[in-house]
Amino acid sequence: MSTLLANLNEPQLAAVTLPAEHALILAGAGSGKTRVLTTRLAWLISTGQVGPQGVLAVTFTNKAAREMLTRLSAMLPVSTRGMWIGTFHGLCNRMLRAHHRDAGLPQSFQILDSQDQLAAIKRLLKTLNVDDERFPPRNLQHFINGAKEEGLRPAQVEAHDDYSRRCVELYQAYDDQCQREGVVDFAELLLRSHDLLERNQFIREHYQRRFRHILVDEFQDTNRLQYRWLGLLAGGGAAVFAVGDDDQSIYAFRGANVANMAAFEREYRVRNLIKLEQNYRSQGNILACANTLILNNRSRLGKNLWTDSGDGEPVRVHEALDDRQEAQWLVEEVRGLVRDGWARSDVAVLYRSNAQSRVIEHALFSAGLPYRVYGGLRFFERAEVKHALAYLRLIENPADDGAFLRVVNFPTRGIGARSLEALQDSARGGASSLFAAVAGLSGAAAAKLTAFTRLIDGLAAETRRLPLPELVEQVVERSGLAAHYLAEKEGQERLENLRELVNAAAAYLAEEGIGQDVPAAVGVAAAAAPLPANLLADVPEVLGDAAPEAGGAALPAMTPLAAFLSHASLEAGDNQAGEGADAVQLMTIHAAKGLEFDGVFVTGLEEGLFPHENAVTGTPRGGVRPGATDESGLEEERRLMYVAITRARQRLYLSFAQMRMLHGQTRYSMRSRFLDELPEGSLKWLTPRTQARAEPAWSEGYRGAWEGFDAPARGGARPAQGGAGASAWSSSTRGGAARGRADNGDTGRLGPHEQRAAQRFDRGIAYRVGQGVMHARFGEGVIVGIEGSGDDARVQVDFGRVGVKWLALSVAKLETL
Ligand code: ATP
Ligand code: MG
Repeated sequence: MSTLLANLNEPQLAAVTLPAEHALILAGAGSGKTRVLTTRLAWLISTGQVGPQGVLAVTFTNKAAREMLTRLSAMLPVSTRGMWIGTFHGLCNRMLRAHHRDAGLPQSFQILDSQDQLAAIKRLLKTLNVDDERFPPRNLQHFINGAKEEGLRPAQVEAHDDYSRRCVELYQAYDDQCQREGVVDFAELLLRSHDLLERNQFIREHYQRRFRHILVDEFQDTNRLQYRWLGLLAGGGAAVFAVGDDDQSIYAFRGANVANMAAFEREYRVRNLIKLEQNYRSQGNILACANTLILNNRSRLGKNLWTDSGDGEPVRVHEALDDRQEAQWLVEEVRGLVRDGWARSDVAVLYRSNAQSRVIEHALFSAGLPYRVYGGLRFFERAEVKHALAYLRLIENPADDGAFLRVVNFPTRGIGARSLEALQDSARGGASSLFAAVAGLSGAAAAKLTAFTRLIDGLAAETRRLPLPELVEQVVERSGLAAHYLAEKEGQERLENLRELVNAAAAYLAEEGIGQDVPAAVGVAAAAAPLPANLLADVPEVLGDAAPEAGGAALPAMTPLAAFLSHASLEAGDNQAGEGADAVQLMTIHAAKGLEFDGVFVTGLEEGLFPHENAVTGTPRGGVRPGATDESGLEEERRLMYVAITRARQRLYLSFAQMRMLHGQTRYSMRSRFLDELPEGSLKWLTPRTQARAEPAWSEGYRGAWEGFDAPARGGARPAQGGAGASAWSSSTRGGAARGRADNGDTGRLGPHEQRAAQRFDRGIAYRVGQGVMHARFGEGVIVGIEGSGDDARVQVDFGRVGVKWLALSVAKLETL
């Protein structure tokens, strides 16, 4: 016991040992929130206040959940198996498996990840002959998920015009399709589980009696539905222990609601409110940057962090000419760190958007530096892996039309689009699945389709008794996937990934503690060895009909195959194949939440990229939520920057590039305003710091300093605009070179980057970042971003109070000032 509580500071100790009452721990990054939560779990159990079955803990990622289990096992003499520790999605999945009948789902329901969901929506639109330009699938996906996250079924969504009414109808049709196919999307996992608890008193009271303590990490990022789900579980008198940091709320764009913290305090009459202010993670200069930056946000609950670990090293800032050079510099720095004895896995490279990773990956790859990307194209999202999973899904659930369509003609079996259309018509007519409809067809197409359903039936029957890894191997072979990729010129890597899938199945079993000799496709009641409790449906003590096992019926448990398939859908990409090797860690800032590294690079600190232009202009990122104003968007970006900075323990690098290729276009940007919000004394500029311009009086809200970026736009026929604000060093480097060559019309020796840049100047676009402009309607503004070239050229202009706008140069009549 004493060792459990040793090394906690006073408020941490107070938090860990609070009585069984509601509590809110509000604390900044790295102050030990997660540690406190885990220690409290261990303390509650080891002091006998509650059994391992009596607690429920929610964390944000699978990785965090696994870590919590590992740490708990180290602290406790009892087994942690079967404990309800996981993500919201994971726990809801588990609950729905246990009560699939009451939830109206087939036992082997499959989970759609967001790619699958989009494909399902596209298929629906096609079936219903809906114009997908008028109703873009992505928008519909966003609409549906948004509604579900608010807890709204189609009938509850308010629609005031024809267009929204149609969207609601499509939402309904989509739900019907999912129900028919026995599939569930991510948002549905939560909503279905919520509705189950709300409607079924037996089940609700069972869980309310069971969970005496509910602990929630990253509480600031819960959405409304999750909050209500927790409320239903806690309704029987459980003590809710929530830890969070309002400054790290970074999922508002997905419906997360910081207001839940205030609501929690009010609605649960929280008397135990504890703040933790000592940071144990980051050294002084890093922390100073985080603290100073976040002061610029107005909507905060307010707290400050301190550390006694000294200032440490200054935060290093690097300006690059372009993204490739930024990546090159990064590679050199990492090499230096490795030479100094750092492990590569102690270094993380963070970026605002996934698209940035390609250039960095390329540079690391070329330099022979092993790296791992988290949350990018995840292992389970690769096409070949998805194909194999589709076969497995069909074995488990032949009604899964999405899986059927994915592989019915892959590898090719000569089944054409017309045959499939006929099949779809017939399925619709008979309200059956595609698989079932095959039996009713006749003609030449029928023979080929029947061969396919026989293949699946055969695989299902013959692999039934095999352990999971062998089942996967058989399916890869006999489906024809292995032969297909073997014959493909570039198929080697894909074959390796398929082999890796077999390994993943084995690793999954080992991790879950399932004996490898347990048949994969046989329900647990018939299995030779029992599944571990955390895979089993819970066995409610007194649940009447909801507990079939009480009457001796088979447990409503899933097979190892179904469990593995859920795992593949829910896996947040943080358990990729090959984990554990010493590799540099690459991920988006969102994915880095809750983690820490000795060394961190935050890249791409440019206006428009970070803060992201959509957040600044309020442009929908696939549709903004109502109430999201420009200011709230910017504040969310700043919180994201706060999260990024606070991941670092010892060394932090911040970098930006003057020019970058993104989504096929060259963009010129000024450095992020966030850099100018950091305390100068904590920074060390590795490249000469460009001089800041005086802030124009009208540019309210634009706190960043203007700089006369020496974008190559200085070249050509226009007079140079550099003036006092010009970048002192870049004018003598690439800017100058590009100008010279462009003037000569000699672009032959330039790389694609430079050529594009040079072309732009040849067309004589007299604009550059930092340029003052006048617009007839919006008034005076300053260019903060340029994109595209020729007739497609667009500029992003900050019009002060009017806001930041993108304007097409060929249309907007802009005058330079
Ligand atoms: P975040 O907001 O980023 O999720 P957090 O508040 O959850 O951070 P933790 O991850 O729990 O913080 O802790 C940060 C680091 O500080 C961890 O390495 C943890 O082990 C360490 N730490 C926390 N409390 C103490 C303490 N009292 N003594 C020594 N180290 C501590
Ligand atoms: Mg944490």
